[in-house]
Amino acid sequence: MKLVKRSEFGWGSSGASYAKPARGLVIHYDGSDQGLAGKPHSACVTYWKNTRRFHVGSARQWVDIGYSFGACPHGYVLEGRGLNRAQAAQPTGNTTFYSVTLMGGPGEEPTLEQINAVRELRAWLMDKGVGPLVKGHRDFFPTSCPGDRLYQLVKDGTFGKAPTEEDDVDVNDVWHKAQIKMNKGEETESERSPAAVLQELETEQDRMKVRLDNLNGKLDAILDKLDALTR
Ligand SMILES: [Zn+2]
Ligand SMILES: [Zn+2]
Repeated sequence: MKLVKRSEFGWGSSGASYAKPARGLVIHYDGSDQGLAGKPHSACVTYWKNTRRFHVGSARQWVDIGYSFGACPHGYVLEGRGLNRAQAAQPTGNTTFYSVTLMGGPGEEPTLEQINAVRELRAWLMDKGVGPLVKGHRDFFPTSCPGDRLYQLVKDGTFGKAPTEEDDVDVNDVWHKAQIKMNKGEETESERSPAAVLQELETEQDRMKVRLDNLNGKLDAILDKLDALTR
């Protein structure tokens, strides 16, 4: 797990009260799109610092940033209150669950690195004796959080899987087992499964390889002739 400690944000130890959350992890989001996936990681650090500033400011007046952790689109886990602290993230679950926000809004898909960061965080917590449950904020309180996309990933068990190599994440996990709409040339728009789209792309790739081989063969022949002519 690529954990960035709170000391790296210039924060001292959290003033939040001691707790020993033992049941699992709660997923949160921001509520508004942040576009962090398209920005360098330094933007995530800025976002994290701004979030704490907002949480301890006049609007919230909390003792610290509300969350235990954040998981950014680049695959880093940013420490918030960290281990063994009560949170302000999900009232009724603030001392029994840890919390993690994915730092984005309803219009944003989590990146594969981000999903894996949540899995790594969960595995890391389980190593410390925390239970395996993964829940969404809305399981505790009537709220949009963590948004429909992330909540779908909570419900279908995506976050509850073991951490994987980034490439091993099943495309179906990311695309929510949804049908993908594609406009294929003159065909009318049709519903296509991710597996069918992948199959088609692989077939197309094979065709391109054959074509490239043919072209390379012809190029070799031309170069041979050129070589003979200029000799
Ligand atoms: Zn939330
Ligand atoms: Zn980042």
